[in-house]
Amino acid sequence: MATIFTKIVNGEIPCYKVAEDDKFLAFLDISPNAKGHTLCIPKQEVNKIFDLDEETYMGLMAFSRKIAIALEKAVPCKRVGVAVVGLEVPHVHVHLIPLNEMGDMNF
Ligand code: IMP
Repeated sequence: MATIFTKIVNGEIPCYKVAEDDKFLAFLDISPNAKGHTLCIPKQEVNKIFDLDEETYMGLMAFSRKIAIALEKAVPCKRVGVAVVGLEVPHVHVHLIPLNEMGDMNF
């Protein structure tokens, strides 16, 4: 069965899109830990980050970096925190979370 993120990629479930290219998509987290909390995913459905092929892994990191740099400009914050968790959705995603003070994140 397709993950919820594959359904987002396929347009079956709406999202607030931040950016996309042919291989990757960035969209706002539905339950944000901070304003601007963004998820970056490969469009290809893969469960765990270290199961990605090398090219997709490097591409996801490069894509996430671009989004993080843009987020730091767009959202007032001290820095953008980066996390790979994957407790809830078995589809690789990088959390980008604009942070101000320690304690902003509620994982
Ligand atoms: P994780 O799998 O523990 O890293 O968390 C999955 C993240 O996906 C959580 O922060 C959820 O709020 C987020 N999430 C789950 N469903 C949706 C959705 O439909 N749109 C956007 N974010 C979602």
